[in-house]
Amino acid sequence: MSDDVALPGALEKKGPLPFAAPPYWLDLASEDYKNCCRDEKGVPLDPILAQALPSPAELIDAPLESEDPLREEEHSPLPRLVHQYASRLLIRVTGTCPLYCRHCFRRNLLPSEQGFISDEEIFLVQQYVQNHPELREVLISGGDPLSASTERLEALFAKLREARSGIFFRLCTRAPVSLPERVDGKLVSMLKKYKPLRMVIQANHPKELSSLFLEKIDMILAAGIPVRSQTVLLRGINDDAGVLEALFVGLSRAGVDPYYLFQGDLAAGTAHFRVPLSRGLTIYGELRKRLSGLEIPRYAVDAPDGAGKIYLPEGLIGLESGFWRLKAPDGSIHFYPEEA
Ligand code: SF4
Repeated sequence: MSDDVALPGALEKKGPLPFAAPPYWLDLASEDYKNCCRDEKGVPLDPILAQALPSPAELIDAPLESEDPLREEEHSPLPRLVHQYASRLLIRVTGTCPLYCRHCFRRNLLPSEQGFISDEEIFLVQQYVQNHPELREVLISGGDPLSASTERLEALFAKLREARSGIFFRLCTRAPVSLPERVDGKLVSMLKKYKPLRMVIQANHPKELSSLFLEKIDMILAAGIPVRSQTVLLRGINDDAGVLEALFVGLSRAGVDPYYLFQGDLAAGTAHFRVPLSRGLTIYGELRKRLSGLEIPRYAVDAPDGAGKIYLPEGLIGLESGFWRLKAPDGSIHFYPEEA
């Protein structure tokens, strides 16, 4: 699934994140990826290609950036596990993805977690779930879990249900958007067996809502699996109220509930994608005028010190010396730079 197409030599090895993009994804673009127009930093202008093609801008680490911007390591009781919120356990089941998104907040981690979680690691996860009765939900994340075979995924689901019958699954995957052909009857029939299960996808631009994507979403919904979407606010890709309006209306029409619009994380090598938070607030204010309550996602930022999600604009206290002061749901105070 990886390296489905070759890049011109000079762009092949920029930064830690490998390049992989399915031909399907590249075909969504308006230009040939080999000769596409780029901005002064070398980032493709096309919103599809900008998410997929490496650029020299990734080699620049801004001062406040981190290789682990959400501080997952501090909430990691075992390799591949993140237990930040009491009721939810996240498992990075693989570091492999059909499409490596250049803005990914785990971009510096994925290369070290290639390959699917081993049987030994699954055994340890089972024990962890059994020892933590406060857990209600397991997030199957990565990388992209759908880069693994249906059989391997089913074996994982079965083991987790063996550890705790009825535990909720949240399958976090970009595959319906990046590689819709991965969603086939066999996969959907398997997922149907493991309800309660929800799917959370990532969609960033209306061009991603192709007829094939819509067909696959129909299949998933017809199996009684709810689908929600996350969107990352990305400079030059979707930092425009009209673009986001079209995206969220399109997702809602398809039966996908827009769930989160994320302010960009401070992941090393992604400064060129981040939108100043003040501009994000302006865009979100416009969306609130244009969209219904069912169509609009929550705007949120992950606190750079690992304190979790803070909703915007509710969590804003004010801007001081270039930093936004933010209040988390537990009352703790955190900071996020206006520009970084
Ligand atoms: S599919 Fe998800 S995990 Fe993989 S690169 Fe994209 S955002 Fe990151």
